[in-house]
Amino acid sequence: MDEKLKQELIGIVGQENLADGLIDRVSFSYDASEHSHRPEGGVWPETAEQVSEIMKLAGREKIPVIPRGAGTGLSGMAVPIEGGIVLDLSRMNRIIRISIEDRLAIVEPGVVYSDLEKALAPYGFFFPPDPASGKVSTLGGNVATNAGGLKGAKYGTTRDYVLGLQVVLPDGRIMRTGSKAMKSVSGYDLTRLFVGSEGTLGIVTEITFKINPKPTSTSTALATFDDLADAGNAINQIMHSGIIPSALEILGRETLLAINQNTNLNLPEVDAMLLAETDGYTREETEYQLEKVTEIFRRNNAREVRKAETEKDVEDLWAARKSAYAVLARIENNFVLEDVTVPMTKIAELLKGINEISERHGIRIATFGHAGDGNLHPQILYNGYDPQQVKRMEAAGAELFKLAIGLGGTLTGEHGIGLSKAPFMTLEHDPVAMDVMRSLKKMFDPHNILNPGKMGLEV
Ligand SMILES: Cc1cc2nc3c(=O)[nH]c(=O)nc-3n(C[C@H](O)[C@H](O)[C@H](O)COP(=O)(O)OP(=O)(O)OC[C@H]3O[C@@H](n4cnc5c(N)ncnc54)[C@H](O)[C@@H]3O)c2cc1C
Repeated sequence: MDEKLKQELIGIVGQENLADGLIDRVSFSYDASEHSHRPEGGVWPETAEQVSEIMKLAGREKIPVIPRGAGTGLSGMAVPIEGGIVLDLSRMNRIIRISIEDRLAIVEPGVVYSDLEKALAPYGFFFPPDPASGKVSTLGGNVATNAGGLKGAKYGTTRDYVLGLQVVLPDGRIMRTGSKAMKSVSGYDLTRLFVGSEGTLGIVTEITFKINPKPTSTSTALATFDDLADAGNAINQIMHSGIIPSALEILGRETLLAINQNTNLNLPEVDAMLLAETDGYTREETEYQLEKVTEIFRRNNAREVRKAETEKDVEDLWAARKSAYAVLARIENNFVLEDVTVPMTKIAELLKGINEISERHGIRIATFGHAGDGNLHPQILYNGYDPQQVKRMEAAGAELFKLAIGLGGTLTGEHGIGLSKAPFMTLEHDPVAMDVMRSLKKMFDPHNILNPGKMGLEV
């Protein structure tokens, strides 16, 4: 790092909050995706004012700044692809206030998701988005990626809980958006503009979240299907039956095989397994809902329908689902985890199409995901040392995106665009929408210093 720049940064954050050694630059060079590129160094700001000073300095020197939470992103969103300074927000990790009376929590961006969960638990409240990375990922990262999870179908995603933000703009100005009231239609919805903007428009330095009372009872069941179409129809019928399960997950054949190879859960190796959870405040309430769900499973030719009778059954089933990503990661040297999402009525077609793509390209694709909101995770398994397999993986990925868009869906329901999906943005968004997005980026960040190279915004 240029010595003068380094001294100025130390002047803002202190020696202990700057790192530019090789080991630090390598640590900041990657996230959980296949992308990597080293920055010149990284800083850990502790206040919004420090973030503001850093942005003013970066603007003057025209140096890229890349906001970073825990680096668990799956699309290269926090990868400093054009070098520059990583702005690691993990030391801004205070829960500023929890107000049960006002139903809100105010936090700094570096708070880890599960730490907020732990803080809310004694009050009987929770913050529903529940990303599978919640033990590690930060709330700032969750806001910047609009993270979602198992409970999306019933409870929505991070976006549905952000009431207001404090944001540092690329020119260093500090702005507040939204309000602490449960509803507001005052002015343009600037809060929503920043949610999911992948750190390209501003740096989130404080978040006001709406929180929910936590249901006290849950019931769980599984169903197995020999035919993907039956599983798809069951999902569809459940979602318009009037019952909204708190989770409705799907595991495909390849995923079930991988779980069995790596655990002693001994799951049935069928075309699809569905896992449903209902929640409420009494046992009767959750059981009534689950009864309706299992009736639909049976009506759609489920081979087996099984209710979890004990705590251990419940734990085993959810452990199986939650192990999917990790057990699949062990099968091949490399993998890409996609998160295409389609309208509910198109899930069966998407599942069928994924299997066809896998066969056509001779590459293994294991699928699991959030059936309840149409968000599937096809995990493409390949050997990165074999150039032929890399080519086949890329071709399969591109076809997968075309398939999802063709079905009226989207490139990404959770993991964002970042670098991975940037080349496909124009597949989903028309030229006018792309033009508006590029104009917004230009307006907020005329020198293109904040997380440049992401989201396909550069022409
Ligand atoms: C095992 C595993 C499971 C996962 N499961 C899920 C899941 O269920 N649902 C889901 O949605 N995602 C999931 N993810 C992806 C990832 O965890 C989420 O995208 C998460 O929200 C990223 O948070 P982070 O703190 O790691 O952010 P990072 O990866 O560090 O950053 C992500 C993006 O946010 C920006 N950013 C970070 N902090 C700020 C800030 N304060 N202000 C402005 N921009 C900021 C960065 O610039 C970058 O563009 C998973 C990842 C892994 C590895």
